[in-house]
Amino acid sequence: MGKPTGFTEFNRHLPARVPVAERLKNYDEYVLRYSDNELNEQSARCMDCGVPFCHNGCPLGNVIPEFNDAVYNKDWKEAYDILSSTNNFPEFTGRICPAPCESACVLGINKPAVAIEEIEKHIIEIAFEKGFVQAKQPNIRTGKKVAVVGSGPAGLAAAAQLNSVGHQVTVFER
Ligand code: SF4
Repeated sequence: MGKPTGFTEFNRHLPARVPVAERLKNYDEYVLRYSDNELNEQSARCMDCGVPFCHNGCPLGNVIPEFNDAVYNKDWKEAYDILSSTNNFPEFTGRICPAPCESACVLGINKPAVAIEEIEKHIIEIAFEKGFVQAKQPNIRTGKKVAVVGSGPAGLAAAAQLNSVGHQVTVFER
C-alpha cells in the first residue's frame, strides 16, 4: 500500500481531454496524461484491500493493488512486470476496456473508485518510453504450428501466449 491515508486525502481525478473540435482533426490520443504528481496521488488512493474485489472484477485477473503500489513508488519496471504478467495488451485495455475493475473497487462503496484504467494506461505508456516493452523470443521452438482465426484482442493474446511457449503461430484475419 503506497500511502495508508491516500484514499482519505485525494479525490478521484481523470486526465483532461482534448476538445472535440480539435480532436476531430487527427487520430492522435485525445486523453491527456496525468502529471507525475497526479499519477502519484491517484495510485495513492488504492487501499490495498484485504479482499481486493478489483481482482475479481477484472476479466484478466490483473494484479491491481500491487501495480498501484509500484506506481506510487515510481518503480516502473516492477509496475510493468506486474501488469504484463496478466495482460498481453494493456495499451488496448487501458483505453477501451469498460473497466469492470473500477465497478468492483471497494473504495467505490462510498467514494469514487480508484482510477485503475488510467493508471494501467500510464504504466504501459511509461514502459514503452523507458524501453521495457521488447519482443520476446521463445527459448525453444516446438515445431508445432497453430492457426488463430481472428485478430481481435483475444486472438492476438492467444497468439502471443502460444508463441511464447515456442509454437509457430499464424493469425488469420479476413
Ligand atoms: S478494490 Fe480498489 S481500493 Fe481495493 S485494492 Fe482494488 S483498486 Fe485498491
